[in-house]
Amino acid sequence: MCIVCQTISVGAAALTGILPVAVPEPEALKPLPAAVSPSAAQAASIGGMTCKKIGQIRNTSAGSFRCTTIGKRRIWQRSGAPATTTTVAPTTTTTSTTVAPTTTTTAAPPPWQRLRTLLIQQFEARSESGRDLSIQFQTSPNLNESKATETMNAYKKASRYWTNYFSPTNANPLVWTLLTEKDYDWYYAKVIELEGSSANHSWNPTTNVFGHCGLNTEAFCGYGNFKTAPNGTKTLFQYNVIGTMYSKSPDPNVVNHESVHFYQFANSNGLPGDVPCWYVEGQATLYGNVFSSVSRELDIRRVRTSINDANSRTAEDWIQLLEQFRANPSECVRDNRHYFLGSLIWEFLLIQYSEELHHRVLVEMNSTSWASAIERHLKTTPQQLDRAIATYLASVFS
Ligand SMILES: [Zn+2]
Repeated sequence: MCIVCQTISVGAAALTGILPVAVPEPEALKPLPAAVSPSAAQAASIGGMTCKKIGQIRNTSAGSFRCTTIGKRRIWQRSGAPATTTTVAPTTTTTSTTVAPTTTTTAAPPPWQRLRTLLIQQFEARSESGRDLSIQFQTSPNLNESKATETMNAYKKASRYWTNYFSPTNANPLVWTLLTEKDYDWYYAKVIELEGSSANHSWNPTTNVFGHCGLNTEAFCGYGNFKTAPNGTKTLFQYNVIGTMYSKSPDPNVVNHESVHFYQFANSNGLPGDVPCWYVEGQATLYGNVFSSVSRELDIRRVRTSINDANSRTAEDWIQLLEQFRANPSECVRDNRHYFLGSLIWEFLLIQYSEELHHRVLVEMNSTSWASAIERHLKTTPQQLDRAIATYLASVFS
């Protein structure tokens, strides 16, 4: 939905080798011990013993039992938990009952699910209380006024998520131009006014392609680029077409995805050459998907479509692919892998490290390389991080 990625210079430095460093499994990824009740094993149990009247309930210190027919026998079968339970190590085993225990424990949600829940909670809190990002809106005369207002408000709301981390008044300016599919002449002049006479015009009037978007009356899409404005200030210029017949609400996936780019470039003076090719779009895709309730399964399916052997890849295989991305970025952007594989990589990064730490890495990259920034704030090297990411990807697709 955007071509911000095209403005990023992706370094092609080849890895000189993978350090044989064992990366400990992230704490958050270790399976949580399941809470089990010791009572089944420790308290007197009538489970499995013969009973007489089907349906009869008997409450004991070991729990509640119901008289049930199993095969030709009538036996007491557990139907409820004992009055008190404690959490014990998951190595406790039950050997004293002859029928399968019916006590069920609720498995803790997986780390990716907990991450999504956390991000949504943060979104709800910050969209209410967060500071507004200062966006310089430019609107074309043909725009439907109420649709334009609705769109600007949606972007303002989505952007409040990120102002938790920086002062909007100190950030790089964001110029956000809203127009319709009928505004070619207005657009052409506006680009020159904003970006200078040498600016690229990404609207091809012959094909009616606008960045990546095919324009029509129902379009809602755009592109952006990050460059030095004529006044010498690094500026993010975004252009968004709202078709004259577009009647839906602003697409929440587009709004939240692009708002991540606002955040990224509000805080960046240009990313270093060694930043991973999935960094920019992977982050935007993950947050855009989570905040618009797009299923994680969609990213997984797209990876499987693009990387046919994803399910059988070992961690070593994934490391090789990440290494290949560095040496040959076209492999990374093939099929838009940097979006959806990048999204799963960012899922790992946010399970492993806080959002705050990632913000520090972003800011740090204004004055240093990706390698130095993650070494300082994530206490890891690109090679170690690749290994940890690869281990995660192998577990996702196994
Ligand atoms: Zn994007």
